[in-house]
Amino acid sequence: MNFDELMAAHERANRIQGCSIEQLVAAFPRIFHGEAPQCSSHVSPGWREIVWEAFRQIDDLLSEGQAARLRVDQIKEKFGSLRIYLSGMARSGAVQLVEHATHTHLGPSDQGEEIGDRVQAIINAAAEKCAQTCDMCGQPGSIRAPDHVYAARCDAHRKTSWDEWNLRVLRRHGGAP
Ligand SMILES: [Zn+2]
Repeated sequence: MNFDELMAAHERANRIQGCSIEQLVAAFPRIFHGEAPQCSSHVSPGWREIVWEAFRQIDDLLSEGQAARLRVDQIKEKFGSLRIYLSGMARSGAVQLVEHATHTHLGPSDQGEEIGDRVQAIINAAAEKCAQTCDMCGQPGSIRAPDHVYAARCDAHRKTSWDEWNLRVLRRHGGAP
């Protein structure tokens, strides 16, 4: 398979596993406003439930106005860790969500800061869970670097490549090329 075919297979496998960005955007219209994050994003299949639950909690927490201002800039995995980058701005200045590295803070109002801290706590808790969850199968795991690439993996998938994993998913569902 060439690169384009591999990417298409990856997308198909993600959709089968219910973790495509399209599916996430559709599940949380108040948070994503019908648009994929601006920066290239993905959710690892083994982390699907953790990420969905985090957005469910954020959705429950935010008022209409706060949700309208929230922007999800990127969701990705880096060095085996889940990263979710958020931003948002209030024209009134009442609530301002400012993305700062992996941290989010709201200001200048007290209520804004409290909500921002709570959103950040949800994201931090999700990232902590992901660090102990195989990003392929969702079983307990830990962050390791078998081939100099950090990834949260269980023993069984310690050395599995994403190409191998996706091909197995597609074969199981009769969608293999
Ligand atoms: Zn695994």
